[in-house]
Amino acid sequence: MEIGVVRRDGRGDAFFDGAAADRLVIKRCGGCASWYAPDANECPACGGELGWATASGRATLISWAISHGRPPGDGPVPPPVLALVELREGPWLHSRLIGADRADLREGLPLRAHFEHPEEGESYLVFRPESSGRTDHFSGDRPREEPRS
Ligand SMILES: [Zn+2]
Repeated sequence: MEIGVVRRDGRGDAFFDGAAADRLVIKRCGGCASWYAPDANECPACGGELGWATASGRATLISWAISHGRPPGDGPVPPPVLALVELREGPWLHSRLIGADRADLREGLPLRAHFEHPEEGESYLVFRPESSGRTDHFSGDRPREEPRS
């Protein structure tokens, strides 16, 4: 799953328009308010129609795979981590994980949606650890495994 130039696909314009505006826009059932991935078509729970809604962008890490496509020594950019994440709203998405120290990767790692805006192609969704990008005041004595659900 190499992410090169991203073009619009079956996930729909609302998803990409949201990404361009740094918003995670996914499907939500008008009948029972369940949330679904952007490519879902109808609600399996109640058969209701799905509309687009903005999700929180919070997620947790379910599983991941590290791509070894990039040869070692090729600059400071680490190879991409492909992640399966569970959105706080419930749906699971495949996405790329950035800004994560590989040693910190674990199931349940809190993540935040983040959007890349390349010069060519569509903006696209990635996830980064919730703690990255915070100021580092507390990092020295914070336990690695935070007791949070
Ligand atoms: Zn429903």
